[in-house]
Amino acid sequence: MQIPAPLQPSTRILLGPGPSDAHPAVLRAMVNPLMGHLDPEFVSIMVQVQEMLRGVLKTKNKVTLPISATGMAGMECCLVNLLEPGDKVVVCAMGFFGQRMIDVAGRTGAVVTTLQAPWGKTFSVDEISETVARVKPKVLGLVHAETSTGAMQANIQEIANICHLHGTLLVVDAVTSLGCIELDIDEWGVDAVYSCSQKGLGCPPGMSPISFSDRAVEVIKNRKTKVQSWYLDMTTVMSYWGQDRVYHHTAPISMIYAIHEGLRLVLEEGLENRWKRHWHNHQALKVGLEALNLHYTADASCQLPQLNAVRIPEGVDDLKGRKFLLERFGIEVGGGLGDFKGKVWRIGLMGYNSKPSVVLLALAALEQALANQGVKVNPGAAVGAANNYYAKA
Ligand SMILES: *Cc1c(COP(=O)(O)O)cnc(C)c1O
Repeated sequence: MQIPAPLQPSTRILLGPGPSDAHPAVLRAMVNPLMGHLDPEFVSIMVQVQEMLRGVLKTKNKVTLPISATGMAGMECCLVNLLEPGDKVVVCAMGFFGQRMIDVAGRTGAVVTTLQAPWGKTFSVDEISETVARVKPKVLGLVHAETSTGAMQANIQEIANICHLHGTLLVVDAVTSLGCIELDIDEWGVDAVYSCSQKGLGCPPGMSPISFSDRAVEVIKNRKTKVQSWYLDMTTVMSYWGQDRVYHHTAPISMIYAIHEGLRLVLEEGLENRWKRHWHNHQALKVGLEALNLHYTADASCQLPQLNAVRIPEGVDDLKGRKFLLERFGIEVGGGLGDFKGKVWRIGLMGYNSKPSVVLLALAALEQALANQGVKVNPGAAVGAANNYYAKA
């Protein structure tokens, strides 16, 4: 075989559902020399990561750490640790990732009851309340920011209160929420939460922050059966990340450096400022998209600022449009998943990428992508609308 040339990956602007571009300081943190995963200096870095993660999740939960894998492993970790065969679980699915939660929960041998909302919509507290009261499940799982539809499930605190009335633990998918929109684990009363490194935190993919409430930890400690997954078994993962520092697996050292910097930058910016930044850039993008006649899939009342899912106009080819954006501008936007395949573009403005220069470039590029396929556009209208918004904001 001919030995390939060293890699020279092209520079992209990642405006899909993730990964989003890493902050340059995060990439710089990753080139630091490796240390052993039990080196006392590395252990103190781990402690700092945990402390900062508690800050970003707004929790005092002792069991708060990044799992050494992507967001899906966080989902699996929460469910396999809290569920045993025969347990009852309710999963609320309003899109692709809720659907996945049904699959993952079912594989534990738990009895799954599903609540479905049409794609682009969310659940009312009443619907969830009725189901929890009837089923009295051990666990209720829901997605806070459904990346497949761009919809945000509101009222997490009310839902948690209802769960706790019935002795139910609330598991929340915050993969696309963390670092973008408000998340307040203790105040809301969430029992288990998982996220990822490559969306709102502006790090590469590879880590999944998780946190378990004391109530959830009690449930894990009192399991009758072993956790099916060896790698994700919190009873042993906790002893590596806890006081004992017992070898479990080799921590991905460079990724820990990355998330250390990612979390540090979030705290330095301030949570509220960060949420506001995501909101403003979303508003600017939105007025621009409207000027291009692109319409959101999610109801106006529940649109996510960090993920803008819009319907592809009649007569415009999905793949051709995305190829044009990538080749002409180096911009990646996401296509639709499941029910939305071929019908939706998903434009992410997450973490480092949530900024005016990116919004204006994305709008200018989208205008060209539409014009390229024969759509009548008003040249400059989208960029103009966004600039108008920024001028007033
Ligand atoms: C991206 C995403 C996941 C999966 O995370 P990976 O890091 O791709 O494993 C799960 N849930 C939601 C809501 C997501 O957006």
